[in-house]
Amino acid sequence: NDQAKNTVLEIVEKENIEFIRVEFLDYTGVTRGRTIRKGSLKSAMDKGVNFSTAIMSFNVFDEFIPNGMYGSNDGDFFAVPDPKTFAVIPYRKNTARMLCDLVDENGDPWKGCPRNALKGLLNKVESILGGKLNMAYEQEAYLLEEKNGQISPADDSHCFSTDGVDIQEDFVQDFVYSLEAMGVETEQISSEYGPGQLEINLKYTDALKATDDQVTFIHLFKQLARKKGKIGTLMPKPFEHLPGSGLHVHMSLYNEDGENLFENITDQRGLDLSQDAYYFIGGLLKHGRSLVAIGAPSFNSYKRMLPGSWAPAHICYGDANRSVLVRVPEKRRERRFEFRGADGTCNPYLLSTSLLAAGLDGIQNKIDPGDPIREDVSNLNEIELKELGVSWVPRNLNEALKSLEEDTILADTIGRDIWSEFINVKRNEWEKYSKHVSDWELATMSKMY
Ligand code: GLU
Ligand code: MG
Ligand code: MG
Repeated sequence: NDQAKNTVLEIVEKENIEFIRVEFLDYTGVTRGRTIRKGSLKSAMDKGVNFSTAIMSFNVFDEFIPNGMYGSNDGDFFAVPDPKTFAVIPYRKNTARMLCDLVDENGDPWKGCPRNALKGLLNKVESILGGKLNMAYEQEAYLLEEKNGQISPADDSHCFSTDGVDIQEDFVQDFVYSLEAMGVETEQISSEYGPGQLEINLKYTDALKATDDQVTFIHLFKQLARKKGKIGTLMPKPFEHLPGSGLHVHMSLYNEDGENLFENITDQRGLDLSQDAYYFIGGLLKHGRSLVAIGAPSFNSYKRMLPGSWAPAHICYGDANRSVLVRVPEKRRERRFEFRGADGTCNPYLLSTSLLAAGLDGIQNKIDPGDPIREDVSNLNEIELKELGVSWVPRNLNEALKSLEEDTILADTIGRDIWSEFINVKRNEWEKYSKHVSDWELATMSKMY
């Protein structure tokens, strides 16, 4: 590790880096941190940079919540930058960023740190499963423009139209080159369903790096859009009548010889998946409601996941079916599956950790997911859903949080402190949202009644 730190210090000298942003994510998925001068970097890597624990008890409106677990008298944690995440920020030549692990005053992993939770679980999962877990994050996002106080899509492109990509080529290429400069590989770029909506797929890699890469994606997307006078947003449902932006996470498992442990071509169900893959999916479905609470943790998230959209409204799995929570891609592609119930407002460390915890529960307790669902489940009525054993994803944030509150397995894997404070912060957001009376409500109801 000393060697890794020295390498970072050498690069800082060689590349004339003056400022280093040390960053971590709070429970609402917002990046927090400080910028340190290069002279303080060594001590930061050795000892960490201090922050009040209270910073983890802020809601998405940037308010300190009244009944937070961490208050002004709960001391500090220390953010220790991980040398492996050092990256020069390409559009600010003398600035770099590093992602941090949070430790307590004794230097032990701080129990409120989501990145620690993921690292700890990964070690355990990989030794139990005998393979390396790969993930690939696929984020959809809108490019918007603000004119005369009105926010609208930045172009009027159509689904997968190459024109759509061409209109935004200037932004997209800059974005992709910047990601690559920061060590994040991309696979493909599409103009998504909505006008101004894009999807950029990151290349699969080990679960920790894939999650760090998603954090890099979020920063760059917003910051580069702003640099070009636009608003880049991962908000799940920015417009009622346009498609929402999802976050899909692909998972696969490989052993040391590069064999895909999720593949079995003699599979009776015909999806070419191994028994472990089915159990993993079984775990994802069993914990589906609480996974959605972690992955789609905003009041706005539930305006995206409605029947008839391509976002999941039901808990089931299937191949070649985009209405399901867990989709198994067509057989021509590498055997793996994607979780579709998340969006860009989640904390990716909590999401990756929870997905793995759910999958591990499935494997250890041999949870069978049943047969894949081939119907578009959004067209089925309650009786038909019941016959197929399919249930709804939570219809709003409050329902989702209730499910998460009952999920002791997830609580124990992400850590009781994180779990209870996450619920605290999110319930505070839900309560604020539920109290709000909108202009639209006033305009319609005041004349009707
Ligand atoms: N936009 C959809 C979602 O919110 C997904 C569309 C797709 O399958 O790419 O999840
Ligand atoms: Mg898509
Ligand atoms: Mg996808």
